[in-house]
Amino acid sequence: MEKLTSPRVIETILRKNALHFNKRFGQNFLIDENIVRKIVDAGEVGEEDLVLEIGSGIGTMTQVLSECAKKVITVEIDKKLIPVLKETLADCTNVEIIQGDILKTNIREILGDDLGKMPLKIIANLPYYVTTPIIMGFLESDLPFEGMTFMIQKEVGERLCGKPGTKAYGSLSIAAQFYSDVTIDFNVPSHVFMPKPKVDSIVVSFKKLAEPRIHLENQKLFFSVVKASFLNRRKTLINGLSMNTNYEKEIILEVLKECAIEPGIRGEMLTGSEFAKIANGLYAYGI
Ligand code: SAM
Repeated sequence: MEKLTSPRVIETILRKNALHFNKRFGQNFLIDENIVRKIVDAGEVGEEDLVLEIGSGIGTMTQVLSECAKKVITVEIDKKLIPVLKETLADCTNVEIIQGDILKTNIREILGDDLGKMPLKIIANLPYYVTTPIIMGFLESDLPFEGMTFMIQKEVGERLCGKPGTKAYGSLSIAAQFYSDVTIDFNVPSHVFMPKPKVDSIVVSFKKLAEPRIHLENQKLFFSVVKASFLNRRKTLINGLSMNTNYEKEIILEVLKECAIEPGIRGEMLTGSEFAKIANGLYAYGI
């Protein structure tokens, strides 16, 4: 059989199944096998690994993952693609296809007994309309994954790797860098997709740290403090925190003093570890 990266094969599959690319689901399929293999290589997928793939499409990357991993669990939202996947992945005996929305799926349940027995890698050419909630969901979860490699919009990649004081820096950068080491693997031109997306793409990898950079008394409070500090980017840290949290200004000033952080600076200048210290300090006053 011809490769699934062939545009002619994709068109034939869609026509045979009376399907069309569903924009609502961010369907931009890969048509360059070299890029598919580069993503799987960047994810360091090995023969002992359990892989969770998000968005199977017609199974293009799933086939390559199946060759490299011990087991692949692939989740696809589009019900109409399931019969296609059953056909294209018929020979891939180590692949399990799950129909569902990854944001509403109980991931521990679908990974079942395999979780904890094999190293878990999460790999995807992500649907761009839900990139941020998917990535944040994994970062904030206690799912024991070793690494994640995602194709995403370039602009989100820049935010994930953003450094304090830059325009790209925000809550997403802090969450990503607090729990993992994030690296940009490579840029991807739009002509490797069918149809071509309107935005530039990039592949990024996350290596989860064994422990977050600083122990957190309360993860929810940490994220509230970060979000409060970025709600009004032009405001000083003290103003952002007193306007957007329930803590009294005096308490916040006391905590900032204990952390040796200047109340008059802007939140966008702080590192994730400094936000963690503030959150831990505020925790002593209740949440
Ligand atoms: N992996 C294929 C490839 O690289 O050619 C398809 C990638 S395409 C960018 C994204 C895929 O994710 C589509 O097949 C789409 O239907 C699916 N998808 C979109 N939203 C999803 C969701 N919330 N949960 C699971 N899959 C989703």
